[in-house]
Amino acid sequence: MKQVILEQPGRLVLADGPPPGPPGPDEALVRVRSVGVCGTDFHAFKGDQPFFTYPRILGHELSAELIAAPNAVDVGLKTGDRCAVEPYLECGRCVACRRGRTNCCAKLEVLGIHVDGGMREIIKVPLRKLHRSESLSFEQLALVETLSIGAHAVGRAGLEPGETALVVGTGPIGLAVIQSAQPLGARLLATDVNEARLEFCRRQMGVEHTFATGASAEEALRDATRGEMPTVVFEATGNPASMERSFGFVASGGKLVLVGLCQSKIAFFDPEFHRREMTLLSSRNALAADFKRVLSAVEAGTLDTRPWITHRASLADLAAALPSWIDPGAGVLKAMVEV
Ligand SMILES: [Zn+2]
Ligand SMILES: [Zn+2]
Repeated sequence: MKQVILEQPGRLVLADGPPPGPPGPDEALVRVRSVGVCGTDFHAFKGDQPFFTYPRILGHELSAELIAAPNAVDVGLKTGDRCAVEPYLECGRCVACRRGRTNCCAKLEVLGIHVDGGMREIIKVPLRKLHRSESLSFEQLALVETLSIGAHAVGRAGLEPGETALVVGTGPIGLAVIQSAQPLGARLLATDVNEARLEFCRRQMGVEHTFATGASAEEALRDATRGEMPTVVFEATGNPASMERSFGFVASGGKLVLVGLCQSKIAFFDPEFHRREMTLLSSRNALAADFKRVLSAVEAGTLDTRPWITHRASLADLAAALPSWIDPGAGVLKAMVEV
């Protein structure tokens, strides 16, 4: 069985490996078909992803075809079904899991990050992690994880029609937030330091109002909101300075949702936070319900996946292709590996 192993930072190797053993009662054997590559994979490759251990088979944005599962019929699946794979393996027993918050399980293991992932031909996963679609392509199904992270963040915010929401940072996570927020009828604004990305937002994602995150960002925002500022701000850069600055973008009574994460402390000025009685939220991963919601939206055509995939490679070519995708000049939005 072909697999691509990240042996150590900078060393990605195509190798032969043993296929997984037969699936247990709650498991499924699946043939991996498409794998999306994202910033986490790039950080792991560069060696600056904290707490990451090597060697590791990457791949957490997966679509697959069901090969075998003893109890497939119990969950309405059959051999040959096309599925998105939810890569979050929760313990099922911790305080978060018992309250349905499996996305932030205290012992969470994510495929391709904490345990070996899907950059290989065949993988064994818990049966309940398969989300089937009859109509979507494997590439669309491999986008569902990224899109679900946006859907989860929008759910955390409780976004309502008529609200004005700002998305700070228009990389993949910011765009996923935008696409989940749009059908809700909120007024969306987007900001980024990169003008090409903002242009993409306007042309491909239909965001009418964008502005550069320069020195006058607060002023631009005040102009665009008749002085009121957005009631929800989604921070999707993971840049500490941007995260701190985003506190100042929020309306009185509004919410700040930190979707991007950073590896340091961030600080805010408490009197301003209290004066506006702000709500501060983090958003991590996604729930099974988010996967289902995104699948339905893509199937219904209310969530358009066409702008997403900019680069492709086969599993055999991945070791050569991945380093070139890291360069910001390569213009990668989403690179897709065909297995
Ligand atoms: Zn990812
Ligand atoms: Zn748990």
